[in-house]
Parts: sequence; structure tokens; C-alpha cells
Amino acid sequence: MSTLQKQIALQMNKKQTQLEFDKEHIWHPYTSMTNPLPTFLVDSAKGVNIKLNNGKTLIDGMSSWWAVIHGYNNDDLNLAITKQLAKMSHVMFGGLTHEPAITLCKKLLEITPQGLEKVFLADSGSVAVEVAMKMALQYWQASASQYHEKIKFLTLRNGYHGDTFAAMSVCDPVTGMHQLFKKNLNKQIFAAPPSVGFYHTEPSKIQQELNALEQIFIDNHQQIAAFILEPIVQGAGGMRIYHRDYLRAFRQLADKYNVLLIVDEIATGFGRTGKLFACEHADISPDILCLGKALTGGYMTLAATLTTVHIAETISEGEAGCFMHGPTFMGNPLACAVANASLSLLASNAWQQQVSHIEQQLKERLLPLKQHTRVADARTLGAIGVIETKQAVSMAVIQQRFVDLGVWIRPFGKLIYLMPPYIIQEKQLNQLINAIAMVLDDDNCFHFA
Ligand code: PMP
Repeated sequence: MSTLQKQIALQMNKKQTQLEFDKEHIWHPYTSMTNPLPTFLVDSAKGVNIKLNNGKTLIDGMSSWWAVIHGYNNDDLNLAITKQLAKMSHVMFGGLTHEPAITLCKKLLEITPQGLEKVFLADSGSVAVEVAMKMALQYWQASASQYHEKIKFLTLRNGYHGDTFAAMSVCDPVTGMHQLFKKNLNKQIFAAPPSVGFYHTEPSKIQQELNALEQIFIDNHQQIAAFILEPIVQGAGGMRIYHRDYLRAFRQLADKYNVLLIVDEIATGFGRTGKLFACEHADISPDILCLGKALTGGYMTLAATLTTVHIAETISEGEAGCFMHGPTFMGNPLACAVANASLSLLASNAWQQQVSHIEQQLKERLLPLKQHTRVADARTLGAIGVIETKQAVSMAVIQQRFVDLGVWIRPFGKLIYLMPPYIIQEKQLNQLINAIAMVLDDDNCFHFA
């Protein structure tokens, strides 16, 4: 179709509502272009409320995918952006630098696990993972020649690390659709995921699983560049919450077999699991750390990959003489400014108390739903609550039902889960939990026509 024809077609469609236009022309994540799931038009959002353009208000149970920890339209975050906007919204990071980026990196070094001294500011979580994987590869390339075969990644089934190609290669092979891209994806090494059970997993079971993992290290360490994993909570790959002893052992095994440890805290970082970083549950520090999502309080896209002096210096002394990555919007000042304001809020306000209240309430009110005949498991940690159903949900029906009930909860597969903004009040969280209890009783939400 020529540009003119396109313009005419669009003119003719002028009478379309915004939603109709959206449905016809705009991709949304993981939904069909020909038979899309329902999409709701948002007018504004404030605190934990998302206001639709039909006037309906929804209580947010998702923090817009782990990100909006302080709630929407926060005065401090708004101010940080507008102040920065008056100075500059962007300058290139090649050859130039600025105060918001410097302040942010200083803060990140202060709060992240020890030993991480060098920060790469990436533009999304997936890019932060690409950067981490590339760092590991460039590190071994720049090391002694006996390590040049270290080009593979070890990871855990049920993991999720993003949608770009390197990130996809370390996502769960089944839910990550490796089959679909099998000619394009690098083949990585997959280990069984840790059993679910943050509070208690039989030590003998943990040991048995770790022995199997160690065997993978023994057989493959010469070709493994890094072990990449989500600490304590495997998020999008199943909302699986696991015991800290695994994480401790992952660090030890990586050290023992000379493999780098990449920890992806894109989802778990900034307090979500009850610790500022999930690594703290096991008191470990990775060689490379990925951050994103809540870094800017969910305001803008920004991520960071942190590493050690040793890795950064080795890469810099290698053949390329530098790390080979440099996105256009690297270190975007607006994003850095709002990230700084978000970190200041975390430092000054009572996130620990807020998260522990949410955790307590989830334990008291959400966990009992485990008894429901439709429920296979219920689990919580920090400000995360998960209901795993026996049967997959019918997305189109359940989504509309939640909206009708005045809540924003977006399940997938057999998982109905909550990770609300930390500022949520008891009454609002109860409404979210009640809505889940109601859909569990509704056959239509689990029925596929
Ligand atoms: N890693 C983890 C653990 C994630 O949860 C996500 C996003 N869900 C990503 C990486 C990718 O981040 P983004 O969507 O910002 O690319």
C-alpha cells in the first residue's frame, strides 16, 4: 500500500474509536493481531488506582509488571522529571556525561551487593541481560587461551530473562518457545529448577538437586562462560519461590568450577522480596548483576548491569580494548533523574515496613485460598502473592471479570498473582484478594469454549 493509500484508509477510519484503532493497528505483548485479548483504555493513574477512560477505577495489583513500587503519579518522581526536563532530556553518553547518571551510579554502588564497582546503564531489562552475557563472553575471550572455549551459558529451566535473542536463549525452553526459533537461538545448557519452597525445603532434597547440578558443572564447566539465574524468585517462568540454600550453593558451585555468576534481579530488585536485593537472602554477591523495572519507580525504561573491577579491567585489556556495546539512549538523563528520586524514596520511606505489612496480609488472607478445590498451590514472599491453579485460566474471561470487580490483575497460564505497589493500603489489598477468591468460584473463568 502506498503512503497516499494508507492516509486515505486511515482517514476513512477516522470514525473508529481509539480502542478500535488500537485493536486494528497496535501490537500488544503476547496477544494475537487477528483475535486479540481485550485491551482497556487508560486515562490516568494515581497512587494504586488506574482510571479507565470510561470512568471506572481499578486497584492495581501488578505494579505494571513489578515496576511501579511507589504508585503512579508520585509527586517526588514527577518533580524529579520536570526539574531535569528543564535542564535537558537527553544527551549522548559517548564522550559526554552528566550529574543524574553519576549520582545514580554512586547510589547503585552503595546499595548493591559488595564487590560490584562498574556500572553499564542499559535501556531495558532485556538489554541489561544481553550486556551481562556479552560481558561474560568478552571476559573469557580476553582471558588466557585455555578459557576461549567458554562460550555457553548454564541456566535453570523455568527461568525468564527477556525477549531479545541472547536473553531468549536462556529462557525456559518450553515457555520460551525455543522450538519456534530453534534455527536462530544459541543452544545453552539447562539445569532442573530448584524446588519451590522458600520457607522450607527438605535439606536432603536440596542436596540431591545440587548434586545433579554439580554433575552438570563437572561435565561442562570448560565450555560454560556464566551461570545466569533469577535469585529466590523465578518470575515470568512460573512465579517459583525457592530456598536461599540453593542460591548460596549456586555461588559456591560457580566459584568451584570457574564459572561467572550472573544474577538477574530485574524483577526481584528494590525490595520486592522483602530484602532490597534478593541476593541478600543468601548473603551472596554475583560477578554480574542485572537491574531494571523498579529502578525508575516504573516511570521510564532504564536498566543497569553491574560488574567487578576484575571483569571490567580484563575486558578492557582484551582485543577490542573496550566493552562492545553502546545504545543511543544509554544513561538517559530523565530516566536517571527519576531513578535517583525513586532510590531516595526507598532510602527515606518505610518500604521495609510496607512490604512486610503486605507480606503479612498475603499470608493471612491469600494463603488460605490454597484450600480451594481449584488451587494447586499458594505461596508468598515479600510483596509477592501467587495462586497456582490446577487448570489454566481463560484469559479473555478472567481479565474482564477482574475489571468488572474493579481490580487490575493479569494472570497467565495457571498463575494468578499479586505484586502491588508498596503503598497499597490494607483495604485495597483485601479488595484484590477478594477478587481472586471470587474468580476462583467462577467456572467461566476456567472454561475454554
Ligand atoms: N529479566 C527478568 C527476570 C524479567 O522479569 C524481565 C521482564 N519481565 C526481563 C529480564 C526483561 O526485561 P524487559 O521487559 O525490561 O526487557
